Amino acid sequence: MAHALGSLASVSPSVAADASLRKTRFKINNNLSFDNKLWIPMSSVNLKSRLSSTKYRCKVVPMSVQQTVRSKIPVQPLELEDAKEPPLNLYKPKEPYTATIVSVERLVGPNAPGETCHIVIDHGGNVPYWEGQSYGVIPPGENPKKPGSPHNVRLYSIASTRYGDSFDGKTASLCVRRAVYYDAETGKEDPSKKGVCSNFLCDSKPGDKILLTGPSGKIMLLPEEDPNATHIMIATGTGVAPFRGYLRRMFMEAVPTYKFGGLAWLFLGVANSDSLLYDDEFTGYLKDYPDNFRYDRALSREQKNKNGGKMYVQDKIEEYSDEIFKLLDGGAHIYFCGLKGMMPGIQDTLKRVAEERGESWDTKLSQLKKNKQWHVEVY
Ligand code: FAD
Repeated sequence: MAHALGSLASVSPSVAADASLRKTRFKINNNLSFDNKLWIPMSSVNLKSRLSSTKYRCKVVPMSVQQTVRSKIPVQPLELEDAKEPPLNLYKPKEPYTATIVSVERLVGPNAPGETCHIVIDHGGNVPYWEGQSYGVIPPGENPKKPGSPHNVRLYSIASTRYGDSFDGKTASLCVRRAVYYDAETGKEDPSKKGVCSNFLCDSKPGDKILLTGPSGKIMLLPEEDPNATHIMIATGTGVAPFRGYLRRMFMEAVPTYKFGGLAWLFLGVANSDSLLYDDEFTGYLKDYPDNFRYDRALSREQKNKNGGKMYVQDKIEEYSDEIFKLLDGGAHIYFCGLKGMMPGIQDTLKRVAEERGESWDTKLSQLKKNKQWHVEVY
């Protein structure tokens, strides 16, 4: 079958899974093969014209429909599903784990303001974590505020599932934005004031050692009691990290104990299309799981909101507020992750929408918190 199609590109699961990484990205024509099963994007299968042709009637439809679903990737070790509670603080700042950098890839295009990198770290299976948790990183060097002591720990949301990007439970990935400092008066970059840890991470090379603490955090764990639940994820920039983990678990990995059949809806706010993160991965889920995944992007420097201003995630939330409120009333989980500054605008929008609907936002918010539907991790 593969040879008959001629233009088919065969891609190993781990490479295909990371096709959204810009440096490693390559064009794969229109057809992909995963685990020797054929996947043809729906767009390349003109079902309507085939159906109207007597030649294909009855014969082609079931095959074509089957072929549109990419098979999920097996993961191991499945013992990572066994624990009832998430792992917490296995390594502390005084006794961190020494892990190894596997790869560092720039995620954004040339016109993105700033740099964001995808960093894969080999922990040898010794620092297990659950989706939505964070690692601590201790950058090398001396803490300028405490001479003779190491730097303080910086936290980073883990952007992979517990199986990591190589599906073997031995790695974790981070999505790190390089912190740079611009002098307010001259407007010029001042390298002496650049962020210590983010620059260490983005500059690191395969084989470099890295001190890890954690994992930490319970707020952003993915509630899995109901595999058919609705999850509304709102991210700005690197805030997408935990959601990449959730979505890989839902749509990319074959996890026997978690078969997602609900709705995952991702709102991602970034500056422009070159700043989009993991976009290929997410658009792939849209093609494969159109009934289970929605994906809305807010590009503040490229798109305008309904008032002609910059398009932020809260403008997208407002656009879909009726649906979002109905989903929340039906028990949906809502998550927010990214820069602290995202929350006031979002809260104002939600409050305004609630009032327009004749509801009290304060009452609604305390209900959502009480029901454990409201999850916020901003930094
Ligand atoms: P620091 O060295 O700590 O500097 C902080 C800022 O101060 C920088 O912008 C730096 O340019 C500026 N600065 C330095 N010196 C001066 C000076 N003399 N005067 C004025 N300004 C100065 N970040 C991510 O990129 N991805 C994530 O997924 C992520 N997840 C997080 C999850 C949690 C729960 C939390 C709490 C934070 C998360 N962060 C994440 C943020 C991360 O922990 C760091 O805060 C961030 O990377 C900056 O750390 P740094 O060491 O690079 O900068």
